[in-house]
Amino acid sequence: MSKTVSAFPDTFPADIPALLVKLRETYGSGRTRPVAWRREQLQGLIRLFDEREQELADALAADLGKNPLESYVTELSLVRAEAEHALKHLDKWTRSRRVPVPPGLLPASARTEPQPLGVVLIIGPWNYPVQLVLAPLVGALAAGNAAVLKPSELAPATSAALADLLPRYVDADAVAVVQGGQETSTALLKEQFDSIFFTGGERVGRIVLQAAAEHLTPVTLELGGKSPAVVLDGNWAVVARRLVFGKLLNAGQTCVAPDYVLVTKEAAPALKKHLVRAVAEQFGKDPSRSKDLGRIVNEQHWERLVGLLESGTILSGGHSDRGSLYLEPTILTDVAPDSPVMQEEIFGPVLPIIEVEDLDEAMKFIGSRPVPLAAYLYSNSAAHRKAFEEGVRAGSISHNASTVQLAVPGLPFGGAGASGTGAYHGKYTFDTFSQLRPVFTKGTLVDTLRFAYPPYTGLKKRV
Ligand code: NAD
Repeated sequence: MSKTVSAFPDTFPADIPALLVKLRETYGSGRTRPVAWRREQLQGLIRLFDEREQELADALAADLGKNPLESYVTELSLVRAEAEHALKHLDKWTRSRRVPVPPGLLPASARTEPQPLGVVLIIGPWNYPVQLVLAPLVGALAAGNAAVLKPSELAPATSAALADLLPRYVDADAVAVVQGGQETSTALLKEQFDSIFFTGGERVGRIVLQAAAEHLTPVTLELGGKSPAVVLDGNWAVVARRLVFGKLLNAGQTCVAPDYVLVTKEAAPALKKHLVRAVAEQFGKDPSRSKDLGRIVNEQHWERLVGLLESGTILSGGHSDRGSLYLEPTILTDVAPDSPVMQEEIFGPVLPIIEVEDLDEAMKFIGSRPVPLAAYLYSNSAAHRKAFEEGVRAGSISHNASTVQLAVPGLPFGGAGASGTGAYHGKYTFDTFSQLRPVFTKGTLVDTLRFAYPPYTGLKKRV
């Protein structure tokens, strides 16, 4: 796939310290604290989506072959809705709240008030390169912070579009887009930030956490993993369509995509038949002609994915084309739990199916592996759903639908264990980029604390 050459050059790592000085000056001036400033930034982000939707969709198409409608639904409208939601609730979120004071400390008052953290760093991956830097930015700005964004170098057209457009819509002295790859990220991580919000893989997540430890910087890690889908019963056509939709969105390059299916031996024949049918329904007999199927991000990932096809028997799919980075949606059966496709997060249009006896065996299988970002159960039995919720640890659980749970702004989105730490979306993003500071106030006219002072022998007599 041809990639648009960035019109915006990468940031020189040597320029990063000066950039940080500028952002610190802005933050230190107090300019980002008033609610009016925060409101302007959120309005700016909304205008960015209203006025530049086409440019952003073009960049996403150049980087990932995304259909414009898919870009709109999974990236642009989603972040716009986050900004609208923050704008609507900003007054409520930023308000201080009184807290009751125990009788022994009266007269006095106590309150909590959300404070911005300072200058924050947001590092994004390539798979949803707009959403995954701008959705955190919504909360960072709503909370009154200055921010550095580091989009992924593997989505260069989108990274360049953000570097070009964002400063025109938000306060350019408070928000900077730094472009570049590993060297740039490494230079950024040497700097002291007040919070780091990282979305990406486990390997780099560890690097970020280590760098943050140096400055004792709080970190949110939005990582990935192998999200299982357990299939027990249901309307097979619907189950298959929802699995295929969740899996093949962005050509399978979605962090919460169902990575693999665990299906009971009893249900397996019906599920397989309907999965094959659902792929044809959504992408046609020859998916290479479909405008709705994205492409693999680069040759290295394409090669990795094509290699994974050897991990089982190909039930359907299997065709690929290096030149266009195309990989046909592929369903694999006879997959051994220790095969390569079951070791790493697939992150592509390959769906392995493993047969199990029952829900118990499926839950043991999931529990024996690192904690996934999401876990899906397809069943109409309330008892099975309850057992799944109690027996499975995951960043999120969704019943009878895959991937769409992340579009509910009232739900926190994040991992657990190996799939991440911290969460965001809606109010949770605001909380992630705020400190809930307690403030206690007392007068000095009468010393109502005197009973608490030493010597404690006296205190003993009084109590
Ligand atoms: P990645 O970890 O390779 O890269 C993420 C970011 O880290 C990029 O901006 C990259 O430039 C930077 N980076 C790379 N090497 C670095 C280093 N040595 N030091 C510092 N920074 C470095 O991830 P990716 O390949 O872009 O994205 C895919 C991964 O992201 C998958 O594992 C996926 O599950 C995960 N993901 C998670 C979520 C979520 O919300 N939890 C969302 C999307 C993707």
